[in-house]
Amino acid sequence: MALIVHKYGGTSMGSTERIRNVAKRVAKWARAGHQMVVVPSAMSGETNRLLGLAKDLAPAKPGDAYSRELDMLAATGEQASSALLAIALQAEGMQSVSYAGWQVPIRTNNAYTKARIESIDDVRVRADLAHGKVVIVTGFQGVDDQGNITTLGRGGSDTSAVAVAAAMKAAECMIYTDVDGVYTTDPRVVADARRLTTVSFEEMLEMASMGSKVLQIRSVEFAGKYRVPLRVLSSFTEWDIDINEEAKSGTLITFEEDEKMEQAVVSGIAFNRDEAKISVMGVPDKPGIAAQILGAVADANIEVDMIIQNLSKDGKTDFSFTVNRGEYAKTVDMLKTKVLPSLGAEEVVGDTKICKVSIVGIGMRSHVGIASRMFRVLSEEGINIQMISTSEIKTSVVIDEKYMELAVRALHKAFDLDQPPS
Ligand code: ASP
Ligand code: MG
Repeated sequence: MALIVHKYGGTSMGSTERIRNVAKRVAKWARAGHQMVVVPSAMSGETNRLLGLAKDLAPAKPGDAYSRELDMLAATGEQASSALLAIALQAEGMQSVSYAGWQVPIRTNNAYTKARIESIDDVRVRADLAHGKVVIVTGFQGVDDQGNITTLGRGGSDTSAVAVAAAMKAAECMIYTDVDGVYTTDPRVVADARRLTTVSFEEMLEMASMGSKVLQIRSVEFAGKYRVPLRVLSSFTEWDIDINEEAKSGTLITFEEDEKMEQAVVSGIAFNRDEAKISVMGVPDKPGIAAQILGAVADANIEVDMIIQNLSKDGKTDFSFTVNRGEYAKTVDMLKTKVLPSLGAEEVVGDTKICKVSIVGIGMRSHVGIASRMFRVLSEEGINIQMISTSEIKTSVVIDEKYMELAVRALHKAFDLDQPPS
């Protein structure tokens, strides 16, 4: 018997029929002798619907007063789905009780619409579990120290579930979702992408930060920090699938020390089209230039990803970096009006038709030549690399967007990701 946290996404909670299925599945786990805490998302579409209503009344009005009401509003989605699940469990003959974040309480800071969890009091939940109840805790929300309801950012129920699992030292946090695990790459791009049975949380962090939207990135950070065993698995299997089979399905996110990890050098290929490249040309090559350019960008609250400064020629150099594509126009405009004149640079040019492709694997730590193999594969496909960045467990390149699928497929094949590891 173990304490287990289940998390169900919006699709799994999308109708009363589906909620009934979730209840049957949870009841199966509880009847097998486990103590069950369940964290549901709002029914699919509900958060968007609610936020849409607010927008109708006051389009994106900034400020705390407005954001506070957005959280009051959006939190109702999870309150409703949680209560419905408790009702469905009772209808299955289980004892069950639901709690909103503030009732647990799940304490957060005061950053409305993107609050961070600070602590979770598990006394109430534990008492219910001890009485044989299945406890439902709303995802996505908490309460600040003034008693205001807060939410954790879109996709935040994943983080709620992991945080509850961490606080309660659950044996495992199982994230039921509409994909059946974490893949070597997006199966929509590479048909023979394989589901990974395990992936390290560091690799997961890299993949999540690069567009693999399986989990909210903060939930992965949380799992890593508190060492919560985390599993991503399908909510579309039949609820009465054999429990032992279910317990081993999906992808387990593990820690590096774990022996059972698959021994591939590269575990996955991540990619995204969310970035744009900006180059400041003809910059005088003297101290303080990077600080001046990137300082202005940071002051404008724009996040920079890759950075390159070229070798100088005749005392001038080019300086390139990438930003989120949505902030491209704003960044170029800011550089032209505020930075170019004082810098004595020649011009600002940019490209929004780029993409970033990355190979990810903790095995890269102990193997040399992996990055150069990546570059060779791309060159054999005639793909020009515009920027490169590396970390211990990842190599990323920026290339022309039109070669993205070609690059991903070629790399997937070259690193044998279509083959199960030996
Ligand atoms: N309901 C929230 C959202 O749609 C939180 C979640 O589903 O994780 O973003
Ligand atoms: Mg989600």
